Amino acid sequence: LKVTFTPIHRRGKGITGMIAVLQDVTEQEKLEQSRRQFVANVSHELRTPLTTIKSYAEALGDGALEERDLSTRFVGVISNETERMIRLVTDLLHLSRLDSNQAPLRRRQTNIHDMLDEVADRFSFQLRQKSISATVGVERGLKNAWLDRDQIDQVLDNLISNAIKYTLDGGQIGLTARRTADGGSIEISVKDTGIGIPKKDLTRIFDRFYRVDKARSRNMGGTGLGLSIAREIVRAHGGTIALYSELNEGSKVTFTLPLLQEGGDPE
Ligand code: ADP
Repeated sequence: LKVTFTPIHRRGKGITGMIAVLQDVTEQEKLEQSRRQFVANVSHELRTPLTTIKSYAEALGDGALEERDLSTRFVGVISNETERMIRLVTDLLHLSRLDSNQAPLRRRQTNIHDMLDEVADRFSFQLRQKSISATVGVERGLKNAWLDRDQIDQVLDNLISNAIKYTLDGGQIGLTARRTADGGSIEISVKDTGIGIPKKDLTRIFDRFYRVDKARSRNMGGTGLGLSIAREIVRAHGGTIALYSELNEGSKVTFTLPLLQEGGDPE
């Protein structure tokens, strides 16, 4: 709470009163604090790969170049770290475009079944590598939705890549779509039989850079921004997103997309 006092002067009588203004600055303060936290996080996330790149480049300059095996390994590390930074900067740019509404939605009628089949296909290599089986199930009669295919593909890619990352070999992933009870939206879910998320972390899981296990996420190539990007895209479509999880059992992320009037009626 911010309090300011303004004295009231009367001619010849000096100060005769006082006006007190009480201003609630908690919201403003919170926003400012989360902005500062975000900048600190970004700096840290960029600094980590840069430091690694610097030290490996120095080692190469200091003689590691002469040793073929060593230099191949070091160049590999530098290349990986550079890719991580590119991913991070790409995600940040995407988020900032979503934040400033510079990513207008290009909605089209989209067949839901095809969309889910195609996302499963995009990940077939990674799924096979971990012997994870993926199934697609779409409620009967649910055909099209009015959505920005590129953006929703990004949401699905983020959710499925998480499901694969955080599921042990031999697990299962299910992609499903159905109409919500009120009939006004569709609900798409990505469910896995993975490691799950502890209860205490669930409320913060959509926050930018929040990870249950930072080291693990980094090792898996994660930027910590996947879920926040997914949430922004779903919100831009007028939908909501939620994550349910049971530790050591698995997780399920569900998002809704309203079935809009403008040509959005399901066929
Ligand atoms: P990251 O790039 O680290 O995966 P995300 O924003 O996509 O970032 O996810 C944030 C964190 O949520 C992850 O670091 C991980 O701890 C947790 N998480 C996300 N999806 C799952 C999942 N399907 N199973 C278990 N943990 C998950």
